[in-house]
Amino acid sequence: MIIAIASGKGGTGKTTVAVNLTLSLDNVQLIDCDVEEPNSNLFLKLELEKVEDVSIQIPVIDEERCTHCGKCSELCQYNALAVLPDKVMVFKELCHGCGLCQMACPRGAITEKDRTIGIIEKAEGEIEFLRGVLNIGEAMSTPLIKRLKKKVNREKTVILDVPPGTACPVIEAISGVDYCLLVTEPTPFGLHDLRLAVELCKELNVKFGVVINRDGMGNRDTENFCNEKGIPILLKIPYDRKIAELYSKGIPFIKEMPEWRKRFGNVFRKIERVETEK
Ligand code: SF4
Ligand code: SF4
Repeated sequence: MIIAIASGKGGTGKTTVAVNLTLSLDNVQLIDCDVEEPNSNLFLKLELEKVEDVSIQIPVIDEERCTHCGKCSELCQYNALAVLPDKVMVFKELCHGCGLCQMACPRGAITEKDRTIGIIEKAEGEIEFLRGVLNIGEAMSTPLIKRLKKKVNREKTVILDVPPGTACPVIEAISGVDYCLLVTEPTPFGLHDLRLAVELCKELNVKFGVVINRDGMGNRDTENFCNEKGIPILLKIPYDRKIAELYSKGIPFIKEMPEWRKRFGNVFRKIERVETEK
């Protein structure tokens, strides 16, 4: 089973939930898909090794063959090509590597070359852990997430730590998972972004439930919203000084507060029940 841990906004405790849930389970693989800020290993402290570079293919123009007809730039959805009277400019940072321009060129003037966008790292131990690390200044996170998801080990329970928000990288990370846990907080900001995340899960036809983190901190609007919409609240993590202190030291709180192991285990069993009812 693949469970995505997502949140409409950053800073809600998504990685905290992903790591604590992972450490509560047996035979588990954790994949940190939050490739711009892959923070899970701040808690896990595993020895990582690079397993591969991840690249996309960008066009190279043969100016000898090119007639500057403009077909390639007309078709490019990402404005990555500009055809001038005597030259074709390639804006490599905008290129998504879709290959359309190469297929469309009537003169065979386009070949491709690799552009590295990031790396994948791995650690084996009590858990199998993988993470993607996007190059600094790089905007193209979706292909890296796509590549990471190819590493899903279906023989294990797979936890995906998804980037925050509801944009393309999140869609890539959530698509095709069995269940999505939406981590939120009981504030107006948390509720606003939870609404967006709920809509996204519905759009992608992914079953979902909610974890309310820092419960007791704000108001009850988030809880009321879930109750009104029939959205299951699978866990509430209180606004608690000890949990906050452990977080600030990079310690997964189930390690020092073992009663939470069972609670996270119960979350997993609830998700399993939803899966078997499908
Ligand atoms: S489609 Fe081919 S020939 Fe036309 S401008 Fe682009 S590279 Fe040049
Ligand atoms: S590969 Fe796709 S995104 Fe990149 S320049 Fe060509 S058409 Fe545009």
